[in-house]
Amino acid sequence: MSRQILIAGNWKMNTRKADAVALAKGVVAGVGKNPSVEVALCPPSVYLDAIADVVAGSPVELGAQNVYAAADGAFTGEVNPSMLTDVGCRFVILGHSERRAIMGETDKQVSEKLHAALAGNLVPIVCVGETLEDREAGNTEKVVETQLRGSLEGLDEARAAGVVIAYEPVWAIGTGKTASPEQAEEVHAFIRKLLAELFSDDVAGQMRIQYGGSVKPNNAKELLGQPNIDGALVGGASLKVEDFMGIINPA
Ligand code: PGA
Repeated sequence: MSRQILIAGNWKMNTRKADAVALAKGVVAGVGKNPSVEVALCPPSVYLDAIADVVAGSPVELGAQNVYAAADGAFTGEVNPSMLTDVGCRFVILGHSERRAIMGETDKQVSEKLHAALAGNLVPIVCVGETLEDREAGNTEKVVETQLRGSLEGLDEARAAGVVIAYEPVWAIGTGKTASPEQAEEVHAFIRKLLAELFSDDVAGQMRIQYGGSVKPNNAKELLGQPNIDGALVGGASLKVEDFMGIINPA
């Protein structure tokens, strides 16, 4: 089953417009016309439009870090799928652990966003992952399964193949502690088995599962070499062209 590797840069709440544009220009130049992998940049929403101009005509795609599941209306401060596609987004990150922990985002809200994103022609990147406490208590699979079942609630088989999952162990995010390739592969294989149960073997075989959590140029190759790891969701290392390119093209 061949799944195209997807490397997405999650810039989180970083950059100002000028450095965001410079960073995107560097990635576009580095990637060239025919990248071997799919590449997406997810800047802060205020800079989506500016980055859309930079990536226009290049293979680099645009993603948002969040979306609100409603049509236009009285939702102060929010942005909906139609606005994201209007500025050229293809992807949207949903249920990132920071949103779950800091904004209290629930699996139910993630599933509402998932359906809104799909209805709005966005490709959702649904994030799941256990805390250190969960892992040490032996609850990794239980936590990941609960998050996945809840976040993918109501998703039908026909649409599931186009959804991307990102396994991001919370203890590895921004900490410099990467899951070992074996630790990551073990959870990715578990996730794929669960997706087969939820949908079908065929659909599970088509769905991409990214790994995220301190992915760097020096660990990308081994992680991406695992059979069930189909890409990376990159935070810190996506803020430097050289590091991000080192992950896209690991030596
Ligand atoms: P990190 O973040 O690469 O800085 O660990 C990954 C993420 O949160 O998506």
